[in-house]
Amino acid sequence: MLTYSRPFWDETELLEIRKVIESGTWTGGPALARFEDELRDALRVPEVVCLSSGTTAIQALLTLLRRPESSGLVVTSSLNFVAVASAALHAGYDLACTDIERDTLNMAPGSLAEVLERLAPRYAQIVVFPVHFAGLPCDIAALSAIARAHGALLAEDACHAIGAAYHPGGPPVGGHPASVGAAFSFHPTKPVAAGEGGALALADPALAGRVRRYRNHNMSREDFLDLEAAVDPGLGPNPWYYQVLAPGSNLRMSDLHAAVGLAQLARLPLSLSRRRALVDRYRAAAAELPGVRLVTPDDSAGSAHHLLPAVFDLDALGMTKREVFEFFRRRGILLQLHYTPIHCQPAFASLPAVRGCAFPVLDEVRRGLFSLPLFHGMTDRDLDQVLRALGDLAERS
Ligand SMILES: *Cc1c(COP(=O)(O)O)cnc(C)c1O
Repeated sequence: MLTYSRPFWDETELLEIRKVIESGTWTGGPALARFEDELRDALRVPEVVCLSSGTTAIQALLTLLRRPESSGLVVTSSLNFVAVASAALHAGYDLACTDIERDTLNMAPGSLAEVLERLAPRYAQIVVFPVHFAGLPCDIAALSAIARAHGALLAEDACHAIGAAYHPGGPPVGGHPASVGAAFSFHPTKPVAAGEGGALALADPALAGRVRRYRNHNMSREDFLDLEAAVDPGLGPNPWYYQVLAPGSNLRMSDLHAAVGLAQLARLPLSLSRRRALVDRYRAAAAELPGVRLVTPDDSAGSAHHLLPAVFDLDALGMTKREVFEFFRRRGILLQLHYTPIHCQPAFASLPAVRGCAFPVLDEVRRGLFSLPLFHGMTDRDLDQVLRALGDLAERS
């Protein structure tokens, strides 16, 4: 079965893992430090902190930004994975969602403005947290201007967008000056995979230091409160002593995961150009097909091409969504849906701030939305198989 994504690997991953295993340092070691250095170079940002997943990266950022004893709100696009929504609630914020733009599937600035005009007066602290959906950078200039006008911070769910650029030849996604931080994921479906893992790209070294401490139980070896336990008057700090001022957690990425990530990151430019070539062929073949719209902005959009979203016109095809899915499955292709919208998930649908939001574009688009196969190791034959199925489907409309 041809699925929407599949990891690509060769001997390099095995060599890097073997080095870590033989070193005996399986966590907190040099492979992790190297992975963070190379990510910092690739993303051209001052600070990168790796964490155990994209979700825990988002959660750590929201937790550390949260001002206690005040009302907080996180706003994300409803067409997003549930990570931002869940992390917001865990970190003590309320949640609201915006609609999307039809042509990009990204957060719609007009919808954000509407949500903030309505809700901002009720909250002391707001974080606007859009996703760069499918790897296509969202309109961060417009979104950040709206956020700023309402005193809100902006952070980026960049879990689809490693290797994307804000504009062609421009800076990589992850270091936008209007954003407090960007979260990345190294789940095996993502273009840089590590098994599990995530990272925060940050501009502020003080915030990066707090994330580093938080991922390791907030242990520190400075500014001791209990001097008698911490320091020997003649010899200095006691080597065994650490201080925990507030509860942290274990959100560390192991060196075994970092080793895989290093091999994958080195291959990112190659992977991106392969996915770009596949998208070009998809685009050329599907431009004429009735009944299906591929959401593939041209290369001037700087997309990382993580997903290839397709919107099927169920009315024109005379099919249900399930019938479209089965049509492809019979031809050996397993479609996937990214995502069931957040405002349709029982965990979030009944939250007051979510219930007050409207999703006219998303509710229309999601009727026929699926992701088509797109990944580094996808062969021309794989692509032919999908294009034949698309052609057969279009004949029915
Ligand atoms: C994958 C993903 C996440 C979560 O990343 P994990 O590493 O799986 O925790 C969050 N947001 C988006 C948009 C994602 O695609």
